[in-house]
Formats: sequence, structure tokens, C-alpha cells
Amino acid sequence: MLNRQPDIGHAAHDAPPPADQSLLEGVLARQLRPLAKAITLVESQREDHRGRARSLLEALLPRTGAAMRIGISGVPGVGKSTFIEAFGLYLIEQGLRVAVLAVDPSSSLSGGSILGDKTRMELLSRNPAAFIRPSPSSCSLGGVAEKTREVMLLCEAAGFDVIVVETVGVGQSETAVAGMTDIFCLLQLPNAGDDLQAIKKGVMELADLIVINKADIDPIAAQTARSQIKTALHMLRPASANWKVPVLALSALKKDGIAEFWDTLQRYRTTMTASGEFAARRKHQAAAWMWELIDASLRHRFREHPQVRARLPEFVAAVEDGRASPSAAARELLGFLNG
Ligand code: GDP
Repeated sequence: MLNRQPDIGHAAHDAPPPADQSLLEGVLARQLRPLAKAITLVESQREDHRGRARSLLEALLPRTGAAMRIGISGVPGVGKSTFIEAFGLYLIEQGLRVAVLAVDPSSSLSGGSILGDKTRMELLSRNPAAFIRPSPSSCSLGGVAEKTREVMLLCEAAGFDVIVVETVGVGQSETAVAGMTDIFCLLQLPNAGDDLQAIKKGVMELADLIVINKADIDPIAAQTARSQIKTALHMLRPASANWKVPVLALSALKKDGIAEFWDTLQRYRTTMTASGEFAARRKHQAAAWMWELIDASLRHRFREHPQVRARLPEFVAAVEDGRASPSAAARELLGFLNG
């Protein structure tokens, strides 16, 4: 079994064709234009592009993994873009390069997008040490998440030290982003009502760090919210025995508290690396990603099977009318795959 492992990647993928070799070299040389081209290839739905993208990703894989992957979420208006711009500029001052990616389910649901506004993060987008990419548009959240994971790997191969994956505080996108990052940060407003809502939605359980933004407006309210959230967190089962979820109050607008935020992330990385949880989380994420792809592919094959396509409406109607049991219908439909 062990001596077969190195064959996995090679069996499934050939080396990139010569045309993509320069793309690969450009990405590794940290050039933004080849990186953008590689991302376009990875985001493409065309089957021939998918094959090329897979080869490119396989070839770049050994050069990925060094970045810190940070998920950031919060409802529209909480200050995500203001915060990410301030944070990104701070990182650049420290000599680091930062890539900002977005997972925006609204881009596929409504055709519009909550995060796609071009005027956002204007200073950061003009800085050569930053790279900002809007959400890929895809027909499903699963599709958006898959592309974003791949884009993240490309950015890592292009030498970015920090990858920020931004999402909106609605729907399942937060689970997807928490599932592809090392640390998931939730931005909150200094408003107790919202905090309780977040707990109800279960989002707080995903958070490794909670940030109360706009503390400049009413510092006392921010401190009250901070202690309320801390109390609420006591009621949740901690995800790690080694990490007590910190609650920071800061102001993205005044750039106040950004250094403390970064220090907290570094402390998280050091603590979780020492306990082995940092590596364990990535291993778990990689395996979960593989299973997601297998599940999606099986579902696709099932739905595209000629007999399934022909007979599915009839089976659904029979189940809905109570003429067939769901389990018998499922068994028979799945049986077509073997036929
Ligand atoms: P997003 O929708 O979460 O990306 O939020 P934005 O970053 O676009 O911010 C929404 C509004 O809140 C803008 O008018 C910002 O200027 C403002 N804002 C963001 N952060 C702060 C902050 O720390 N303090 C104050 N007073 N306003 C802020």
C-alpha cells in the first residue's frame, strides 16, 4: 500500500502541457499576471480547462501550505472590508504579502453579489504586495467553495504569506470557509441582540476568534458586548482544550487594535502547532475536501445516468403519492447504476 502512494498524483494527472509550463513558472516567480491567468483556468467550467487546471494544481501542490489561512465573516455592514483593508495594510508594513479571496453565495444565487463591489479595499487593491480576488461565480456554494480552495493553493504557490478568505454572515458559506481555513474569525457589532442571534445560528461555535468592530462609536457598549459574548461562550463546548476563544474589541476605521488582532493570530498558530491541532485541522480538511468531491461526483453521475434521468420523475411521483416507499425507490434507482 505504502509504495503505491507516490503514484496517485501521477496516475491521475500528466505534467502540465508546455503552454502551461510558463504559467507555472510565472506563479512560482510570484508574478501576478500569470497568477490571475492560472486562477481563470482553475475557475473555468470547461472540461479541457479542468484537466489543465488539475495538472497545474498537482504540479504546484508541493509549493503550497506555508501561508496562514484566515477566515473572516460577519453580516453586511459590520465592517469586513474596512477591517481587511486595515489588516492587510498592517501586514504589508510588517513585510508580508496578503491575498484576499471571497466566498459569496449571493453571486450564484441572485446574480448580484454582496462582496463583489470593486470600490472596496481601494488602498489595498492598489498595493503590489496585495492580491484581491472576488468570489468565483458558480451554480452552487459547493462549487464556489471548491474553486476558492484551489485559488487559495495557487496564491500560496505564488508566495503569499497570509490568505484571507472573506464571507458574509448568511447561510452555509461560513461553514464552508471555516472548513478551508486555519482560523475562523467572526466580526460582530457592539450590539447584544446580534450576538445572541449568532449563538442561535450556531455560527459562534465555528469561531476561533471573535472581534467586536466599531468600538470607537461607543467604547462602553463594546466592552459590555465583549463580556456578554465571553459569558455566552462559556455555555458552548470548546472546540479545543488548548484554546479559549478570545473576544477582542477594536476599530477597523481608526485602525485601532489591528496589531493585537495579528498578535492573537500568531498566538493561536503557536499554541495549535505545539498541540498538533494546527496540522490535524489541515489533514482533516484535506480528507473532507476529497470526500466532498467524491460525493458531488457520484451525485452527478447518478443524475446524468440515462435510465435514472428517464425514470426519476416517475419514481419521485410514486414516492410523493405514497405508492412506493422512499427506501425501495432509492434502492431501485441506485440499481440502475449497476445495470
Ligand atoms: P462590510 O459590508 O462588512 O464589508 O462593511 P464595510 O467595511 O463596508 O463597512 C460598513 C460601514 O461601516 C462603512 O461606512 C464603514 O466606514 C463603517 N465602518 C467600518 N468599520 C468601522 C469602525 O471601526 N468604526 C466606525 N465608526 N465605522 C466603521
